[in-house]
Amino acid sequence: MTTPSTPSNVRFDPEKAKKMTVYFAVVSALGAAVIVLSAVLGWGFMGFMGGGVLLIGGVGGFAGMKATGGVGKVTCPNCQTTTEVMQLNVHRYLACPGCKTWLEGSTSMKPVEAGHIAPKPTFTVPLPEGGVMWPKAADGSYLNPSGSPRTCTDLMEIEGRRTPVIGMAAPVRISRVLKLEAPYRKDDPDAVWLSLDPVPTLAFRSFDYARAFAELNDAA
Ligand SMILES: [Zn+2]
Repeated sequence: MTTPSTPSNVRFDPEKAKKMTVYFAVVSALGAAVIVLSAVLGWGFMGFMGGGVLLIGGVGGFAGMKATGGVGKVTCPNCQTTTEVMQLNVHRYLACPGCKTWLEGSTSMKPVEAGHIAPKPTFTVPLPEGGVMWPKAADGSYLNPSGSPRTCTDLMEIEGRRTPVIGMAAPVRISRVLKLEAPYRKDDPDAVWLSLDPVPTLAFRSFDYARAFAELNDAA
């Protein structure tokens, strides 16, 4: 598989933006109407507050969409799969749903290059079932998931949580918390995260580390 370096431009989606504008306008109008009715019909404080929340939500949502560039579509330069993106002006990472290539950028997106370090754990690998192997350096210490050349000699327990679904009785008992020991350095905290939603997944700051981990654990 070749990874072309030509960036793909993110296209603004006027249809979707229009729908969202209408939505924010309806919410704002509803909020204004509730405030007027509260005054006329004497609904009191809760009426004013409810209307205010709607009005602020609608106007704020619209302003936020304008400020961050609205919604659009990006086409993967590798496999041409199209993905919907929000906040066009904001830098994002995105795993192509078609070919799993990691892309990065804002109004223009390109494949993530080797050696890339994300500011937060970003590059995800499904948690291998039945045990995890951590990539090691030549001297036997653990490679650092932050991408730093300073290796880790210690493992520390990390915890992943499942967001509880409020008001829903789970048909089966599903574990809500999962604990796991991961390479750790005091001067590089937050190099690896464990998430349980929707499936147990590890996320790493280092792109190279994530690839090495996936390869070692056969979890690509
Ligand atoms: Zn793709």
